Amino acid sequence: MFNVQDIRKDFPILSRKVNGKPLAYFDNAATSQTPQQVIDAIVDYYANYNANIHRGVHTLSQEATDLYEQARQKIQAHFNAKFSHEIILTSGATHSINLVANGFSSLLKKGDDIIVSALEHHSNIVPWQMLCERTGANLKVIPMNEDGELVMSVFDNLLSKNTKLVFLNHISNALGTINPIEYVIEKAHQVGSAVLVDGAQACPHIKPDVQALDVDFYVASAHKMCGPTGVGMLYGKEAWLNKLPPYQGGGEMIAEVTFEKTTYADLPHKFEAGTPNIAGGIVFGAAIDYMNNIGFDAIAAYEKELLDYATQKLLAIDGLKIYGTSKNKTSVISFNLENIHPYDVGTILDKLGIAVRTGHHCAQPIMDYYGIPGTIRASLAFYNTKEEIDTLVEGVKKAKMMLS
Ligand SMILES: *Cc1c(COP(=O)(O)O)cnc(C)c1O
Repeated sequence: MFNVQDIRKDFPILSRKVNGKPLAYFDNAATSQTPQQVIDAIVDYYANYNANIHRGVHTLSQEATDLYEQARQKIQAHFNAKFSHEIILTSGATHSINLVANGFSSLLKKGDDIIVSALEHHSNIVPWQMLCERTGANLKVIPMNEDGELVMSVFDNLLSKNTKLVFLNHISNALGTINPIEYVIEKAHQVGSAVLVDGAQACPHIKPDVQALDVDFYVASAHKMCGPTGVGMLYGKEAWLNKLPPYQGGGEMIAEVTFEKTTYADLPHKFEAGTPNIAGGIVFGAAIDYMNNIGFDAIAAYEKELLDYATQKLLAIDGLKIYGTSKNKTSVISFNLENIHPYDVGTILDKLGIAVRTGHHCAQPIMDYYGIPGTIRASLAFYNTKEEIDTLVEGVKKAKMMLS
């Protein structure tokens, strides 16, 4: 049974005070909080296993290597990849995306199209713009509508035999919209294009099945799913990963090095140059265990309840507008108060111990669409409560009074 009070006991930070008030943490889309089980796993690694991996004959190195590779298998199982070598451990979603964008430099030519969605995080726009500059490929955009949904009829028309790659996020970090990635993948495959899905914002809420989706690349960050910062993953279909050239050169990623020619290691090591975030990788596995123990069905059901409750309470405030009103959305609420700058509201909320994010949320094109400088974003996680939402609503009312 899902019991939020029991779950909250796992998160030491949730009982701290901020500015003399109990913390109400609603910035989960920027980073999630860390349960004691994950903190313990970090301590356990450094206290008992710390060594460099894949090189040592000594016991510690072998144990650390085993733990690291077990974590990779855990990640493989979680995302239902066919092979563990299809899981590349990276420093996060941004690194994963750049790895693929860099690899496509050698596969694209002038006149090719790559298609991006209007709902992207900057980390899923800029690397592709850089790629287009390098290769002469064209960047095309699937537009959004007032509800914050992608306009699929335009997408259909953008597709052609020139389309080489489509990339979009699974869930928008700024608005919470769940994008129709199944449709996009199917349509893109019909014209022979690859698809990269940025799952950074989806993985805290749902458990994607990369084989069922038939997606070519899928990326995630551990720190948005109860894990540590500085570690993430790239899933790529084996055939695609074999096709892409290595991203960075260095130790660990080679088979043989001479000054005439270097041959590269097999997957996944080809893409893992240098000493990785060993503790991070191992603890990513612990975070996945933690979330699976609670269960993604229970998480989704509870977060839906929180989202509906918060939406209804916030909309009762006069002059409050919510951006991102798709029926298909997760627990992200982006909103503004009429004629009040989001930053000012965020500052007052912080004084009350309430952590929200204000600004463009690394998604400036969305803000431009709505003609606003930014929003106040409350992103809810499975450890938030209705009482905290009441605190948020009272805080917003107070901010409105003080600022208007
Ligand atoms: C957070 C986020 C990223 C970037 O993740 P990093 O961990 O900062 O690399 C990319 N895309 C989306 C949708 C995100 O929410």
